[in-house]
Amino acid sequence: MEQYKIKSSEFVRPGAVRTVHLKDGRTFKKVVDKSIIRKNHNSGDRSFVQIFFAVVTLWIGVDFFLFVSGLQHGIATYRPPSVEGFLPISSLMSLRYFLLTGIVRRIHPAGFFILVAAIVISATMKKGFCSWICPVGLVSESLHELGAKLFKRNFTLPRFIDVPLRSLKYVLLAFFLVSISMLSVTELGRFLGSDYNKMADVKLYLFFEHISTFSLLVIGALILLSLFYKNFWCRFACPYGALLGVTGLLSPLKVHRIKETCIDCGKCADVCPSALPVDKLDAVNSAECTGCYSCVEVCPIKDTLKFSVTPHLKGLSQRQYAFILLTIYFGIIGLAVGLGYWRNSIPGSEYLSLFKNIRSISHSF
Ligand code: SF4
Ligand code: SF4
Repeated sequence: MEQYKIKSSEFVRPGAVRTVHLKDGRTFKKVVDKSIIRKNHNSGDRSFVQIFFAVVTLWIGVDFFLFVSGLQHGIATYRPPSVEGFLPISSLMSLRYFLLTGIVRRIHPAGFFILVAAIVISATMKKGFCSWICPVGLVSESLHELGAKLFKRNFTLPRFIDVPLRSLKYVLLAFFLVSISMLSVTELGRFLGSDYNKMADVKLYLFFEHISTFSLLVIGALILLSLFYKNFWCRFACPYGALLGVTGLLSPLKVHRIKETCIDCGKCADVCPSALPVDKLDAVNSAECTGCYSCVEVCPIKDTLKFSVTPHLKGLSQRQYAFILLTIYFGIIGLAVGLGYWRNSIPGSEYLSLFKNIRSISHSF
């Protein structure tokens, strides 16, 4: 028979969870009231939103492919503005230009607004852009899930490698931020209006169309590493994610753990794609938290992990989180469209003329 004594003062909810002290000094949490055990865990809302954005991204990709094919045949067709979401450096320079002058530059304004939306989301609800909207995040996540199926597990790097490697994305971010902050308004304006910036998206497309063996090897290595290690690209190398992580530190919403009802099962830490020790924290303040809800969804005890402003408030459900995130994202984009700032000001004739000499266009810095 199990031998233990129970201190009645340690009941956290009468009859719900209590700490059991074994005679050898060890303790464990015992769920007495089975009604606090959650049954239905995964709502699937995040997967739905991720797939929606993946389809939109594919659609944008096809439109952009047709646009560049048109340029190759001397025709300027529709160019999807959202493709500018793949020009983060140009967008960051536009953001700095805006902060210094109050002016939104009309070259790639959609990229600027997407960046602003991502930053506002991070500053209010952690870096949800990465785990709900970014298609690279979805690919990265799918790869480590595939890896877990193939190898029956994901691997973790030893801490002495993981920590410096995780700093890499912040070092890259610091490099870009310092470089951009050293430019004067005139220099920023000159770059944003340059032929190089105007054609940056087309050049990016051509880079992938004529991809070098070396670049293919790098991408292949990243894919392979992503199979073994959770979110390899996002965790170690993405400076965009690093920026959102830093702004995410401002977020009043975060994951809170109610330690009195936590039964220390460790499931939350196991599923965390950012490898955070959720089961040991009172609140997840880390810049690495992507608001993915994996921990909240897997926790077997009701209201023990919650995404909220304080631990005492009711947590947001995954659906409510999605609603706020999408409202911010489409609200900012809708504002840009409504004010006539979504599409860039480059006429088709200029695209055709610049495309003729695209190989000779290079940046001036
Ligand atoms: S599992 Fe939880 S702690 Fe980890 S990234 Fe997702 S929301 Fe943040
Ligand atoms: S999933 Fe995490 S928070 Fe929930 S009971 Fe287990 S250890 Fe505690």
